[in-house]
Amino acid sequence: MSTTATPAKTAREELPDFHGTLVGPEDGDYEQARSVFNAMIDKHPALIARCADRDDIADVIRFAREHDLLLAIRGGAHNGAGLGTCEDGVVIDLTGLNDIKVDPNARMVRVGGGCTWGEVDRATAEHGLATPSGIISTTGVGGLTLGGGLGHLTRKCGLTIDNLLEAEVVLASGETVRASAEEHPDLYWALRGGGGNFGVVTSFVFRLHEVGTIIGGPTFWRADQGAEVLSAYREFLPSAPRELNGFFAFHIVPPGPPFPEAIHLQPVCGVVWCYVGAEENAAKAMAPLLDNVPEPLMHGAHSMPHAMLQAAFDGLYPPGEQWYWRADFVNQIPDEAVAIHARFGTSLPTMKSTMHMYPIDGAAHDVAPGDTAWSYRDARWGSVFAGVDPDVANAAAIRNWSIDYHEALHPYSAGGAYVNMMMDEGEERVRASYRDNYDQLARIKRAYDPDNLFRVNQNIRPARD
Ligand SMILES: Cc1cc2nc3c(=O)[nH]c(=O)nc-3n(C[C@H](O)[C@H](O)[C@H](O)COP(=O)(O)OP(=O)(O)OC[C@H]3O[C@@H](n4cnc5c(N)ncnc54)[C@H](O)[C@@H]3O)c2cc1C
Repeated sequence: MSTTATPAKTAREELPDFHGTLVGPEDGDYEQARSVFNAMIDKHPALIARCADRDDIADVIRFAREHDLLLAIRGGAHNGAGLGTCEDGVVIDLTGLNDIKVDPNARMVRVGGGCTWGEVDRATAEHGLATPSGIISTTGVGGLTLGGGLGHLTRKCGLTIDNLLEAEVVLASGETVRASAEEHPDLYWALRGGGGNFGVVTSFVFRLHEVGTIIGGPTFWRADQGAEVLSAYREFLPSAPRELNGFFAFHIVPPGPPFPEAIHLQPVCGVVWCYVGAEENAAKAMAPLLDNVPEPLMHGAHSMPHAMLQAAFDGLYPPGEQWYWRADFVNQIPDEAVAIHARFGTSLPTMKSTMHMYPIDGAAHDVAPGDTAWSYRDARWGSVFAGVDPDVANAAAIRNWSIDYHEALHPYSAGGAYVNMMMDEGEERVRASYRDNYDQLARIKRAYDPDNLFRVNQNIRPARD
């Protein structure tokens, strides 16, 4: 590249056959193209390559290599740490790869690498089917899947990766391969939890389950009853049937429907339910908890389409707000940890800040720690302490609250964290989160990306020997 040429101008000259769009800082849509979900992330890539197909992706990989430019992969742009973009480098933007093909007979769906979960949920819901994802529909399929995928269907159907049958991947060499139990099984193993470390996934194939109407929604109690409710919940949840998922949370009730006006803006603790089965059985499954705690302020679990529950948090959490979160895996919740939760959960710094504790048992425990890259199969919960606010003036307050909450509870954690809910926390934290699987991941990284081209992620360093 000459000293006056910018990467975007050079890319236009060197990639005349590019099928998608190349966006640089001089272009009118650059500001929109560079924005990601978390407004705390303010990076200025030199080139955003909106790829149309795998040839485009291979071209951009080669271009980044030849010009020694940092390379990021953007799926749904939801990553809290901003790992879907980078400063001064090249972004492979996959949002154009959004084909979805449902095969209801084979109970499978093929999904383009740039889809969001909302798009997938809508397509599969037409057939009364779903694959497990998270708890919000705007998240990208790419990042969520490659990190693991924790959500409303975890206990019944497993993590998202437990339902990943196949992936098509453009490697650092530019070659496209298929990863499955039969083809490149090492890569298939690594993709199931190892994040965007191994290549650009252009399509995923997922197993589908019969999930149409579910019983979903929150039960809320006063936040100052948090210790009592959490103590009952920690005993209840592990023995609940798999059909029932219920994550524990601290929230401030949003001031609008569907919440009764009497509890608007009230700090609460709660359980957000998803029961896959008949309504009367849902009540039976929830009873051992609900019968042992105070009368709630609101019991909002009711029959609804699964896709509606998936979108229930979308309005509360639009793109463009400040986010800072920390996370940990949890095996047990001793009384000391309950007391810490009660303290921080009653002092949420802003209306949108929250703590969620997602169950990881049930079907997720049917898979052994070494069967996929996702090591913490013995953890019972994944906790996330999320500071959220639209106002940049509150950025420091939400960050400090999240860090303080996390640091107070970390001694009671299992050690590592769900990589999709980490910030940029350093190599040791990544190692701790993959535990015994790290060395195998590093060997697979060396085989598929020896130069660590794909390093804008929770990075796994290629093994040396
Ligand atoms: C509001 C909110 C709610 C969330 N809820 C949940 C939840 O319920 N459950 C859960 O498990 N997670 C949840 N997450 C976390 C989410 O899984 C991660 O933020 C994830 O990284 C987002 O994926 P993305 O594709 O949108 O991200 P991006 O920012 O686009 O990408 C993130 C990372 O994924 C990699 N990547 C993305 N797509 C591809 C691809 N096709 N090929 C290769 N690499 C790729 C990139 O390299 C990058 O490192 C939530 C996040 C937010 C902001």
